[in-house]
Amino acid sequence: PRRVVTGLQPTGTLHIGNYFGAVRRCVRLQEQGEDLMIFIADLHALTTHQDPAQLQENVLELTACLLASGVDPSRSVLFLQSAVARHAELCWLLTCLATHARLAHLPQYKEKAARMKEVPLGLLLYPVLQAADVLLYSATHVPVGADQLQHLQVASQLVRTFKHRYGPAFPTPEPMLSDDCSERLRSLRDPTKKMSKSDSDPKSRILMTDSDEVIELKIRKAVTDFTPQVTYEPSTRPGVSNLVAIHCLAEDKLPEEVVEEADGLSTAQYKRVVAAALQRALGPVRERARELRARPDLLRDRAGARCGSARASCGAARATARRAAPRGRA
Ligand code: ATP
Ligand code: MG
Repeated sequence: PRRVVTGLQPTGTLHIGNYFGAVRRCVRLQEQGEDLMIFIADLHALTTHQDPAQLQENVLELTACLLASGVDPSRSVLFLQSAVARHAELCWLLTCLATHARLAHLPQYKEKAARMKEVPLGLLLYPVLQAADVLLYSATHVPVGADQLQHLQVASQLVRTFKHRYGPAFPTPEPMLSDDCSERLRSLRDPTKKMSKSDSDPKSRILMTDSDEVIELKIRKAVTDFTPQVTYEPSTRPGVSNLVAIHCLAEDKLPEEVVEEADGLSTAQYKRVVAAALQRALGPVRERARELRARPDLLRDRAGARCGSARASCGAARATARRAAPRGRA
C-alpha cells in the first residue's frame, strides 16, 4: 500500500507557490483517499535563525492555513515534527552515511549558504533530516516540487547505503511530481528565481494573507518582458509564463486554455485578469484561516492531537531499522 508523507516549514506566512505546490496538493491527495501524513517541520525551521516565540506563532499560523485549505485531521495525520523525537534520532544514523561532498553540492544549500557569513551545519544536513522524516514512516511516495527532487534523490541514496551497510530497512520513496503548473512558481520580481519565503523582497511573492488590493498591486508590478502578447513559454518568457501558471492554478485550467482566452489582451490587461482569478481562489481560504487564527487553543489542539499516532506509525520502520542498524539500537 502507498504511504504519502510530506512536511511544511513554519517559517512565515505561506506564499502561493507553497499553497498550490504543496498545501492544495495535499488536500487533493487526501480527497483521493491516500494514506497521508503531514507534519509541521519545526526542526527544519531551526536551520535558519528563529525567534522561539515567533516560531510558535508560525506553527499556529501554518496550522490555520492547513486547516483552512481543507486538511482534515480526522482523515490525515497532521503532526508536529519535534513531538516525535525519532526524527532527530534517525537523522543522526543517516548523517553518518551521508557525505559532505554530496550535500555541499546541492543547489538549495549553495544558494542559501552563499548569503550567510556563518553557515550552520544544520543547513547542510537539511536533506538528511528530510530523508529521516519520510523513511521513519516507510513513506512510499513524497509529493515534491521540482525544487525538492534532488533532496529526494539524497533520500533514495541513503536507503541504498543503509541497505548495503546494515541490511534492508526502508522502501525507496518515490517522488510525486504534480501534473499542473505548480512545479515551481517564480519570483514576481526576478522570474529566473523560484518564488521563495526567504527572498528578501516581499513583492517577489504573494502571501496567503494578502488582501485583494495587495494581490492586485503585486501582480501589476510583476516583471514581464516587452512582448505584448500572452504566451506560455517558460524558458524564453519566464515572467509572462509565470502569470499564466498562476492563472492556471487559480482556475484549474491548462496553459493552452488561458492563453487562448487571453488572446488580444495586452500584458497589462492580462494582469488584471490574473489578479481577479487569484483573488477568487484565495479569498475564501484566507477568510477561514483568519477565523481560525483567532482560536489559538483549537490550533494547538489540532497540531498536537495526532502526534501520538505519528509516533505509533514510525514503529514498523524503526523495528526493521533496529534489526539492521548498529547493535540493534536504532
Ligand atoms: P524557503 O525559501 O524558506 O526554503 P520555500 O518558499 O522554499 O521557503 P518551503 O517551506 O521550503 O518553502 O517549501 C514548502 C513546500 O512548498 C515544498 O513542498 C516546496 O516544494 C513547495 N514550494 C516552495 N516554493 C515553491 C514554488 N516557488 N513553487 C511551487 N512550490 C513551491
Ligand atoms: Mg524551500
